Amino acid sequence: MRTKEDYLSSLRDGRKVYYKGKLVEDITTHPVLKVAVEHSAKLFDYPDRLYDAGTLGKISKFFKVPKSPQDLLERHKIIYDTTIFCNGIFNISQAIGSDALFALMIVSKKIDRKYGTDYSKRVEKYYEYVAKNDLTLATAQTDVKGDRSKRPSEQVDPDLYVRIVDVRSDGIVVRGAKAHTTQSAVADEIIVLPTRAMREKDKDYAVAFAISANTKGLKLFVRNVDELEGNPLAILSKKDLEVETITVFDDVFVPWDRVFLFREYDMAGALAVDFATYHRFTALSYRAGTANLFLGTALRTAEANGIKDEKHIRDDIIDIIMYKEIMRATALSAALSPVYDEEIAIPNPILTNVGKLYSNMNFHNVIRSLIDISGGIIATMGGGEEPSEEAKTIVKYLRGAVNGEERIKILRLAKELAASSFTGYMLTTMIHAEGSMEASKIELFRSYDYKESLELVKKILGE
Ligand SMILES: Cc1cc2nc3c(=O)[nH]c(=O)nc-3n(C[C@H](O)[C@H](O)[C@H](O)COP(=O)(O)OP(=O)(O)OC[C@H]3O[C@@H](n4cnc5c(N)ncnc54)[C@H](O)[C@@H]3O)c2cc1C
Repeated sequence: MRTKEDYLSSLRDGRKVYYKGKLVEDITTHPVLKVAVEHSAKLFDYPDRLYDAGTLGKISKFFKVPKSPQDLLERHKIIYDTTIFCNGIFNISQAIGSDALFALMIVSKKIDRKYGTDYSKRVEKYYEYVAKNDLTLATAQTDVKGDRSKRPSEQVDPDLYVRIVDVRSDGIVVRGAKAHTTQSAVADEIIVLPTRAMREKDKDYAVAFAISANTKGLKLFVRNVDELEGNPLAILSKKDLEVETITVFDDVFVPWDRVFLFREYDMAGALAVDFATYHRFTALSYRAGTANLFLGTALRTAEANGIKDEKHIRDDIIDIIMYKEIMRATALSAALSPVYDEEIAIPNPILTNVGKLYSNMNFHNVIRSLIDISGGIIATMGGGEEPSEEAKTIVKYLRGAVNGEERIKILRLAKELAASSFTGYMLTTMIHAEGSMEASKIELFRSYDYKESLELVKKILGE
């Protein structure tokens, strides 16, 4: 099977990655971006990551197409376990791409039936290529979107959603930009999906496809990695982080066998929603794992400060436990009560969105609890430079219930988690990644089954 080294050498493929305005020659040796590379590569070191898929041979468990609650439970487990393996930081490299592939498998069959197309065969062939070669994938769904009150075709600049600009006998040419594409700079492949339902006048924007990350015309502008560069005390961000890009399609050619939606505008919404459901289930699974970071740090900090048995500190700890276990409980219950479409199991959309919305609305309580436990020192502490006589003074005065060195060590992690650029990144991630709050609310309000509640009230009213 593919090794970490195979993966790393495949990243030296002429891809156009930019960091702080400069083209990156070799992402694997870049002083900042190599952390995102190494993080992604850890997937190949994760033990027990393969399973026997019959004719496809041994493939990654991420690519197991869920057919039952058991398959979804296993999917939850691999996402949770790899998050822990990567120090509490989600490893998206085969998760988001498989979320997209499952949605494509379902929706392509429906488009084929309606329009006589052959997308499902293309998706199947692409899936086999990805699974057999053990590839890493990013998924670019979120367009840059311009004026949010306007539809794609109504924008002042027509390129604010990715669109088809040319149709050739051998494929299509696309132009536009997607935002926030996680780990595209270090992925082998990028799957592109529509971000919303489309109308007829938006049909050039109803497009889904896959390209390799070194495709001509693709430009990947990486975000600033402030959590590493802006925090000399960083511990976690030196080990694991993921980076997003503004992903620009500068007249990119896509051959027909990699096009999965072409102007069938009435199917764009279904594709967007199915992907979002899988991806939000992924979110519940990794967020339960990530919560351990905060829980463990909160416990150690409480101990270092000598307050672990105080009642209000227990309340703080319970807030974090609640967050973690609600993530886990909603993931498990969504896995156990799937809906089936085209014989593929989709995590229960209601339970998935309930969990995801809880996460959006409550993650800040996890941060608040850790700040409460830590004290103001996580905002006011210095350090990070070479050991010196002055540092010894600080060690003397920063002792708590444990000695100064030990307390400073855990406070550095607490600061990184609760009072740094990483905190801002995490707060934003927990509110927006995998879809905004409003997206989950719309989905819940629209698809919730109200029958039971209405019948109960009808019975009480004697109607
Ligand atoms: C860390 C991180 C990683 C991500 N990774 C990926 C990824 O790998 N791939 C990917 O495709 N996406 C990714 N995303 C994108 C994520 O799905 C979006 O951030 C999310 O869907 C919100 O979209 P937006 O950021 O454009 O915000 P906006 O849509 O601008 O939202 C801002 C506000 O405007 C509101 N709003 C927007 N449009 C309307 C409207 N028409 N009417 C009324 N209100 C509106 C929203 O509800 C929200 O309140 C990631 C995001 C983050 C933060």
